[in-house]
Amino acid sequence: MGDVTSSMPVMVASENGRRGMLAAMALLREGGSALDAVELACRIVEDDPDDHSVGYSGLPNVLGEVELDASIMEGTTLRAGAVAAIQGYGRAITLARRVMEETPHVLVVARGAERLAAELGETPQEQRTEEALRRWRARFTERELTPGDAEPLRSVARALTRPINLQDKLHKAGRVDTLGTVNFIARDRRGALASAVSTSGLGWKYPGRVGDSPLIGAGNYCDDRYGAAACTGMGELAIRVATARSLVLYLKFGMSLAAAGREALRDLLTLDAPDGQYMNIVALTSAGEVAGFTTVPGKQYLYQRAEMDEPALADRLMVV
Ligand code: ASP
Repeated sequence: MGDVTSSMPVMVASENGRRGMLAAMALLREGGSALDAVELACRIVEDDPDDHSVGYSGLPNVLGEVELDASIMEGTTLRAGAVAAIQGYGRAITLARRVMEETPHVLVVARGAERLAAELGETPQEQRTEEALRRWRARFTERELTPGDAEPLRSVARALTRPINLQDKLHKAGRVDTLGTVNFIARDRRGALASAVSTSGLGWKYPGRVGDSPLIGAGNYCDDRYGAAACTGMGELAIRVATARSLVLYLKFGMSLAAAGREALRDLLTLDAPDGQYMNIVALTSAGEVAGFTTVPGKQYLYQRAEMDEPALADRLMVV
C-alpha cells in the first residue's frame, strides 16, 4: 500500500489505465478537479483501439453488438451519473457525466441513453473493430459454436461467458478472456475525490445484460469523507453484495483500508460463484492511501502521486 501525503493529488486505477492516468495527473497538478481528471482518464482508454474491454473497440455481446456501461461519482456531493447497454457511442463516461449534470436522473439505459446522446449532440461512433470481431468469432470456434445457431440465445451466452479457469493451460496459451473494465479514482488539490468506471462489460453477454460498472454502490462508490472504491471482475458478484459501497462503509466504521478491502471481498467469497469468477477492487482513502484487492493471484493495480513522473504498478492484496 502507498503511504499518505495529504492534500496532494493522487490517483489509483486498474492495470489498463496507464495512459489515462498520465494525462489526468498532469491535469490535477495544474489544479484540475478530480471529476475532470477521472473523466479525461476514462476517455483516453475508451478511445484506445487496442483496449478490447472498454469503449468503441470493446468486446461485443452474443449477437455481435457492442453495448457499453459506465458510471461517474463525485465524492463531495455524492452526485452520480451512469449509462448502461448503450450502442453507437464510444465515450460512455462522458454520457454518464452528462446524465449526472444535465438530467434529473442517475442511470439512463439503452434506447433512452442513445436518445440522450443524440439530443446532447454527442458524435455517434462506429463500433466493433475488426480485431474485436475477430476475437468475438474466435470464442465461438473455441466452444464449437457458430454465430446464429438455432440454440436458445441464453444457452449460447452461458457457454460463451463461462469464465476461463486461471489455471487453465489453454488460457495461458492466449485464449480470449471475457472480462475487462477500467477504473479510475482521483483526489485533487482541494482534497475532493471522484471515481469513474467504463466497460464494454462481459464479452458475449446476453443482450441487455448490465454488470456492476454502471451501478453506483456495486462497481463504483465515492465519498470525500472516507474514500472511494471501484471494481473490475465478474459484475454479477459485486452487484449481489454492493462491493464498492461496502468498502467505503467499512472505512466509515473505522476499519483500516486493508481491513475494509479484505472485508468487502470476503462478503462475496461466500457466494455460489462458478469456478474462475473473480473480483478486484481499487481504492483510495480521503487521506490519500491507495490499495488494490483481488480474489485471484497475480493481479496488480496502478497508482500515481503528484511527485511521481509515471504511474507505478503495485500488487493487489489477495483475499481468499
Ligand atoms: N465488471 C465488469 C462487468 O461485469 C466486467 C469487468 O470488470 O471485467 O461488466
